[in-house]
Amino acid sequence: MSKIEMVDLRSQYHKYKGEIDAAVMQAMDDCQYIGGPEVGQFASNLADYLSVEHVIPCANGTDALQLALMALDLNPGDEVITSPFTFVATAEVIALLGLKPVFVDVEIGTYNIDVSKIADAITEKTKVILPVHLFGQAASMEAIMNLADEHGLYVVEDIAQSLGAEVYFKGDNRQAGTVGHIGCTSFFPSKNLGCFGDGGACFTNNAGLAAKMKMISSHGSRKRYFYDITGINSRLDTLQAAILKVKLPYLKDFIRTRQNVAGIYDALLMHLKDISVPERAVDSSHTFNQYTIRVKNGQRDALKTYLQENGIPSRIYYPLSLHQQKAFEAFCPGILLPVAEQLCKEVLSLPIHTEMKKEEAELVGKSIIAFFEKTKHKP
Ligand SMILES: *Cc1c(COP(=O)(O)O)cnc(C)c1O
Repeated sequence: MSKIEMVDLRSQYHKYKGEIDAAVMQAMDDCQYIGGPEVGQFASNLADYLSVEHVIPCANGTDALQLALMALDLNPGDEVITSPFTFVATAEVIALLGLKPVFVDVEIGTYNIDVSKIADAITEKTKVILPVHLFGQAASMEAIMNLADEHGLYVVEDIAQSLGAEVYFKGDNRQAGTVGHIGCTSFFPSKNLGCFGDGGACFTNNAGLAAKMKMISSHGSRKRYFYDITGINSRLDTLQAAILKVKLPYLKDFIRTRQNVAGIYDALLMHLKDISVPERAVDSSHTFNQYTIRVKNGQRDALKTYLQENGIPSRIYYPLSLHQQKAFEAFCPGILLPVAEQLCKEVLSLPIHTEMKKEEAELVGKSIIAFFEKTKHKP
């Protein structure tokens, strides 16, 4: 067995190398490195995949969030409700735009924003709810949309980790990121659909918001050298689009492999009393960008070390909640978010990727079982 990796980009590339290399060579040969035809083609294919009207490609997932928030005409000091248990980008763009991140605690089982706590956080300044669909499955969109409708708020979905997840919404299956007003994703190499560098996209069914995001992503201009508003420069480059266009048809296969690995982990680990396996939301499929367990009784770090000694990598996403970070503490002095804080002490993400073999997942699972056997027998 080869070395177990958290993410195996090399094996995935080798599997599709013929197609990817041909697409890249073609794009290089065409010399339209910015705004080449592949960018529009990929955007259109992704729109079909998601059944959404508009896809606006951009430079990365962080920019996608920024474009979305800039398109909403918010005022300095307006509040954006989001999760504290996420990658920093989510809160970073809120703060950068002079808005205020308002952190609402998460659920212990799914790690997503706890919708039962959102209403209490809504004030006169609240303009947006920005749920993060963490580790591969969506937050409870029906409850979030109901709250947003009731209070006249926008919903921007951060689906950087959950592209391809299916959301059960008002009797229909929808793609994650197409339920709220705007969805934002990332094509960072380790995400569900990764390119060979940075990339991202926004999606929406609202033509006005689509036009606004497109304009902002291109320096605020609709017509070249004429600027209506202050924008940014955020483009998906042609080479990345060419690669993504090749990989998109395999997204379903990528997700299926991840789900199979998760199933193997579940079967091996769900009976261990010191561990909680990731809970499935009732209204979303899980694409398992991460398989993240909770390790109880302060044993997380010892387990991580044990796995490492046995050649098995693991990661802590995330070691410190955003409301506790120096960069954000001024927005929420003294706030306690006990679930997020507990998760930071207990979570451990196990290796999972699109090329992972059954035997590899079994080895990881059995090593975890062995760790708890060993600690149990200690005098
Ligand atoms: C990766 C990620 C982002 C940012 O994407 P980049 O392409 O790295 O800018 C934003 N939000 C979440 C939840 C992410 O995981």
